[in-house]
Amino acid sequence: MSAVDPAKRTIALDVDDTLANLRDPIAAMISRELAVDVDWRHWTDYVIHERFKLPLARFLTLLIEHEVLEHIALEPDARDSVEQLRAMGYRIEAWTARQFHPRAREITAHTLAPLGIGANDIVLFGQGESKATLLAERADVAFLVDDNAGHLAATGHGASDRTVLMDRPWNRGVAARRVHCMADVPILAEELR
Ligand SMILES: [Mg+2]
Repeated sequence: MSAVDPAKRTIALDVDDTLANLRDPIAAMISRELAVDVDWRHWTDYVIHERFKLPLARFLTLLIEHEVLEHIALEPDARDSVEQLRAMGYRIEAWTARQFHPRAREITAHTLAPLGIGANDIVLFGQGESKATLLAERADVAFLVDDNAGHLAATGHGASDRTVLMDRPWNRGVAARRVHCMADVPILAEELR
């Protein structure tokens, strides 16, 4: 095992549908709200509000009202994977587009506490704000893992080379380096250094 480059010792991990499962609770919420059958396995994009003809503001309000973020579960392999990455010498940050929620940092820190990721390790992004811009500025980040392929498309500063897709049905059309579960991330980290 080679040593971590001290200048690139951070790994940024998306929260929703990377570290934690948002797809099942969102599908359940929409199913309840609109009285329709919803299966995220059929989603070919992640513009969920448009898919169900909801205004974005209404969709975000539903997420708050239904307390969806408060009740999401970590992916089963998230904890082991984060522990392995730390044992390799990496520090972990959680990058999440949850700024729409007034209690985003508190709720996210509660969800991620079992991973040893605290409020100060969480970077919040607004809707439509690109993580690629921050990634381009942050030379210390070895790579970002995210299920949203939009962060790949928006980048310009070589950041796309450091963006890894978490494989989900809605990003399968995009050519990119990808992982299929959190357990793949330490393996990739070892390959990339
Ligand atoms: Mg996500």
